[in-house]
Amino acid sequence: MSLNRELHETLGYCWHELENIGIDESFKNYGDVFFHVCKKCGFLTDDCQEECNPNYVAEPWLVIREIARQGSMFHERLKAFSMYVESGTHSKPYCISAHGLFELVAIDTTGKLAQLALDWLREQKEEL
Ligand SMILES: [Zn+2]
Repeated sequence: MSLNRELHETLGYCWHELENIGIDESFKNYGDVFFHVCKKCGFLTDDCQEECNPNYVAEPWLVIREIARQGSMFHERLKAFSMYVESGTHSKPYCISAHGLFELVAIDTTGKLAQLALDWLREQKEEL
């Protein structure tokens, strides 16, 4: 399972798997219009499979946005996550500064932030 999918599902979302559905013939006037539906949750989209799920590895700021979205105490959650990332108490063999965190959010595309978020979310679930 990809890191993107694992993180997305751990956050509680559906990792969409699309299939084509038929559309009204009148739409054909606008060219080739394809609609897709997710086999698992029924989500409708005109995105293709590659576009319909988030890419946390390529767009690491999405990780921060999703962590902030989980629950109402988003300031506390962001603070707790940044402390986790900066503390080095996790099992990952690196420890980063606040400056390093900016780099992870804005520049890095190796998936480090997504992996840290996944580890952090799992640890939190174990504590519950
Ligand atoms: Zn879905």
